[in-house]
Amino acid sequence: MSSQQRGVTIWFTGLSGAGKTTINDALTKELRDRNLKLEVLDGDIVRTNLTKGLGFSKEDRDENVRRIGFVSNLLTRNGVIVLVAAISPYRAIREEVRDRIGDFVEVYVSAPVEVCEQRDVKGLYAKARSGEIKQFTGISDPYEPPSNPEVNCETHKETLQESVNKVIAKLEEMGYLPASVVA
Ligand code: ADP
Repeated sequence: MSSQQRGVTIWFTGLSGAGKTTINDALTKELRDRNLKLEVLDGDIVRTNLTKGLGFSKEDRDENVRRIGFVSNLLTRNGVIVLVAAISPYRAIREEVRDRIGDFVEVYVSAPVEVCEQRDVKGLYAKARSGEIKQFTGISDPYEPPSNPEVNCETHKETLQESVNKVIAKLEEMGYLPASVVA
């Protein structure tokens, strides 16, 4: 199976704390269990190496996404399933990356900003509110939702497993995964 799998980039976008990493981790585990070749590019990790030094201006955020997209494209065209979790707040650059890669599944991971702030997984919202962090997406910096994402995960309304299942169902429907026997 793994030698003939189709490459695809699964791109999770959404606010900090919306659930991108959580869904990505769970999906990664399920795909690994199926023995598929995959690679994960998590925004927080990428920013410590591939895009180290970039900040949070629109220009730098777009450059961050462009570089992640570049690597994703190399992997995708070599038959790898690439899982990207990055806030990637600007629609135009996401569209640019989508057009370049072609095999691209955009997953909009959303919850109201109040919910994300209440979760405050990494304590960043508190820092954004106090002004310690500037240009924080959803608080003091824009987020442009996808206009036509392949998958919508509303994490304030659904369980983690439901979110994961939605992505898997879409991958199956689009022919990136063989359909599973489970309905
Ligand atoms: P992000 O990567 O988008 O910044 P995280 O995945 O780090 O967000 O945090 C999301 C938080 O929301 C986690 O604490 C997670 O347990 C919680 N959560 C609640 N419901 C869901 C769901 N359906 N899917 C994903 N995460 C959820």
